[in-house]
Amino acid sequence: MGYVHIKKEKCIGCEQCVVVCPFEALFMKDGIVEVIPDKCKECRKCLPACPTEALYLERRERRGQRPEHGIDVTVDLPPELARYKGVWVMVEQQDGTPHSVSWELMGEGLKISQKLGVELSAVVLGENVDGIRREAFQYGAQNVYVIDDPVLKDYRTYPYTFAMTKLVNKHKPEILLMGATSLGRDLAGAVATSLKTGLTADCTKLDVDEAARVLLQTRPAFGGNIMATILCANHRPQMSTVRPRVMSRPYKDESRDGTPIVEQLGLAEEKIRTKFIEFIPDAVAHVVNLDDADIIVAGGRGVGCDEGFSVLKELAEVLGAELGASRAAVEAGWIDYEHQVGQTGKTVRPKIYFACGISGAIQHLVGMQNSDVIIAINNDPNAAIFSVATYGIVGDMHKIVPELIKQFKDKKNK
Ligand SMILES: Cc1cc2nc3c(=O)[nH]c(=O)nc-3n(C[C@H](O)[C@H](O)[C@H](O)COP(=O)(O)OP(=O)(O)OC[C@H]3O[C@@H](n4cnc5c(N)ncnc54)[C@H](O)[C@@H]3O)c2cc1C
Repeated sequence: MGYVHIKKEKCIGCEQCVVVCPFEALFMKDGIVEVIPDKCKECRKCLPACPTEALYLERRERRGQRPEHGIDVTVDLPPELARYKGVWVMVEQQDGTPHSVSWELMGEGLKISQKLGVELSAVVLGENVDGIRREAFQYGAQNVYVIDDPVLKDYRTYPYTFAMTKLVNKHKPEILLMGATSLGRDLAGAVATSLKTGLTADCTKLDVDEAARVLLQTRPAFGGNIMATILCANHRPQMSTVRPRVMSRPYKDESRDGTPIVEQLGLAEEKIRTKFIEFIPDAVAHVVNLDDADIIVAGGRGVGCDEGFSVLKELAEVLGAELGASRAAVEAGWIDYEHQVGQTGKTVRPKIYFACGISGAIQHLVGMQNSDVIIAINNDPNAAIFSVATYGIVGDMHKIVPELIKQFKDKKNK
């Protein structure tokens, strides 16, 4: 970690740097400024404040101490934003049922908050949300901010944005995480705009530069050809959305509870233009449930035709699995989009993922590589899918899949 150094012969003891330092890393001793290296966050506020150029920053690279993540993080935070502290997770709910991605984010949020030495807090918005508030404590929240108001019963962009903006402006978290669900994507964009901060959508990995307190937000970029790590160094809060099933759900400690921090919404229904009339669920989305599947049997271009998917369907039925697909299979019209796994489809995390006739393009891998066990069947021994597979079967899937069906059926009937 780098920190500010002082050329003592140049220091005139004016204390200007001490005044502007947001981290109390500088103090006066015998008429000359001293630095507490552990407290310095390299924010550089002090450098222009010094009239005699007595301060300089020793950069990490120069001392051969680049951080493990290899990214050079430079922060120029206004003092009022440097005061933002804590990690928040928005707990998404519909009709009183929390979305599992929120708990997955609690696990990730806890890791980040521990690295930063701050508290993990959950935000629960809605009506009659006491049960969810308790669950948030059980999943590891140290604080739970609650706005319980009939206006928030059903999701609408404006009142939810109003509520979240109000909470952030009052309590000032440095990081705010939301699920990359339909609701989360809509809300996160609106909240980031209202708070005039940055948002990195659809992250697949989160980490933090502890010294600079900057969130390292990794997501596929340029059509999935590269993984980009995006920083929001100079605005707060740092906001990310993460897709369901990317992170693992933490342990739920049923004995935990706490006292929520209850805030008032302060927004009357008459002030809201959008009215909730009816919720009409997407019929297909309820038939295909890749999110919660323990086993997924997925097919790609190697399946060859739509009848090929009937064979995969039979395997899925024998195993009690859901049917997945690569984009190539969807685009060929062999199977509906709702089955697509990958960057522009679903992110899944089953116990077992069968990849049949799928090459393993990065856009597919980002959607399934966190599965517990991956079984790949491909006639090309060099296919990229084998690089993430737990078990690989090299051969013609049209011979192997019927044999698997036979074997599993025999085992079941014994
Ligand atoms: C912006 C963008 C977003 C994308 N989003 C997604 C996404 O969400 N999901 C996704 O899947 N793709 C996505 N893609 C497309 C992706 O780049 C690949 O083109 C796609 O995943 C390839 O599908 P595939 O593996 O089924 O087909 P191919 O790459 O053609 O692979 C077919 C595989 O089947 C094998 N095979 C052939 N015959 C047999 C046989 N008889 N037995 C066994 N193996 C056989 C071949 O050896 C080959 O490895 C995206 C691309 C872009 C640019």
